[in-house]
Amino acid sequence: MEKNNPFEITQKQLYMCAKVLNLEDDVVRMLENPMQQVQVSVPVKMDNGTMKVFQGFRIIYNNVLGPAKGGIRFHPDETIDTVRALAAWMTWKSALLDLPLGGGKGGIICNTKELSQGELERLSRSYINCIWKFIGPDVDVPAPDVYTTPQMMAWMMDEYSRLSGKNQFGVITGKPVQIGGSVGRGDATALGGMYTIREAAKELCMDLSQAKIAIQGFGNAGSFAARLSEQLFCAKVVAVSDSKGGIYNPDGLNIPEVLKHKAKTGSVINAPCTQTITNDEVLELPVDIIIAAALQNVITKENAGNIKATILAELANGPTTPEADEILYANGIHVIPDFLCNAGGVTVSYFEMVQNMYMFYWTAEEVNERLERKMIKAYHEVFDASRKYNVTMRMGAYSVAVSRVAEAMKIRGWV
Ligand code: NAD
Repeated sequence: MEKNNPFEITQKQLYMCAKVLNLEDDVVRMLENPMQQVQVSVPVKMDNGTMKVFQGFRIIYNNVLGPAKGGIRFHPDETIDTVRALAAWMTWKSALLDLPLGGGKGGIICNTKELSQGELERLSRSYINCIWKFIGPDVDVPAPDVYTTPQMMAWMMDEYSRLSGKNQFGVITGKPVQIGGSVGRGDATALGGMYTIREAAKELCMDLSQAKIAIQGFGNAGSFAARLSEQLFCAKVVAVSDSKGGIYNPDGLNIPEVLKHKAKTGSVINAPCTQTITNDEVLELPVDIIIAAALQNVITKENAGNIKATILAELANGPTTPEADEILYANGIHVIPDFLCNAGGVTVSYFEMVQNMYMFYWTAEEVNERLERKMIKAYHEVFDASRKYNVTMRMGAYSVAVSRVAEAMKIRGWV
């Protein structure tokens, strides 16, 4: 058995939730595995004239509440179990935010850093050629995730439209705004996370303007989180990291400078006035808030006991293993669980679907106001459920989400 297999972790979390909610066996049997899994061989003509075949996946975990929704990840370590886990978390996330959507996820095993723009375009289009019969605006709607971009979403939407013979903007979200994207989608994941951090800080009587924050991951989620921590809270971001390592300055980083440095050199490492630290050290710094915004399984039973922060905000999917969760809970660390903390992305993706259907587009203020309302409501539902059942915030989130999915399955006559 793979150590910390993410799909086994989602199943374990579901079984724990089933105990909390006293769920019937047939409900658990329906929810412990994906409803549909597609695996495809994706052929791509490389710049040097050779053909290369990549492995791709697209999974619908559960669609009882509506069309499946979930991103596409391009990563060298992608596995079907990672995609299964992410599809499960998408199901719980959509349900928790009360969106009329199910959960899905996709991925391709590839290293984007070794591919040219032309190869990335052909890979994106070829992937859609392989899976287009299994997706659609009212079936399954993909979006960006790790190492995929709005430009790739544009190529994928264009390919789907070409294959189906009509413009189908609603087949994918996270598109550039010029072709049916929503304003506010770029920073939606981080902004939604900020709203949950603000609500948590109120519960814990933490003054965010005095808070020190460390952020692991400096991509879409992490870099916007760094900017917004300063802009919204006037908090001090003292450390950030990317796949090459981390940087630290106890007096606070100059985030605009770090962004410039990353754009120029490809990494945050060696940004001016910083000391280099490891990705593990980022998580163990003496700060008030840790924002995990990279990949899964970074907080385990080995390092959970070393976390000194009061709040752990999980912008990444699955950063904490179940054993680590127990340690954090015992140590009184307030965890804002992934499918609550990072739900801003899917929420604005849902707004993008609504705008595509209406062919009428909202302002940034309208998007952000609606996002804020949804995030605040979800945060307090999770907090209240964790108190009601005397469980972790993660189990609180599971209990709200899974009970909505289970109820819908009963009403539709599936169980
Ligand atoms: P991204 O590709 O924009 O950035 C990923 C970042 O993680 C990069 O800075 C990369 O250098 C860093 N990274 C990669 N491997 C690392 C490692 N081993 N240690 C430390 N850092 C590492 O991806 P993103 O969209 O920002 O996604 C980050 C996380 O947030 C993922 O778990 C993703 O599933 C989750 N998420 C993203 C969205 C979204 O809308 N983008 C929505 C929900 C959840």
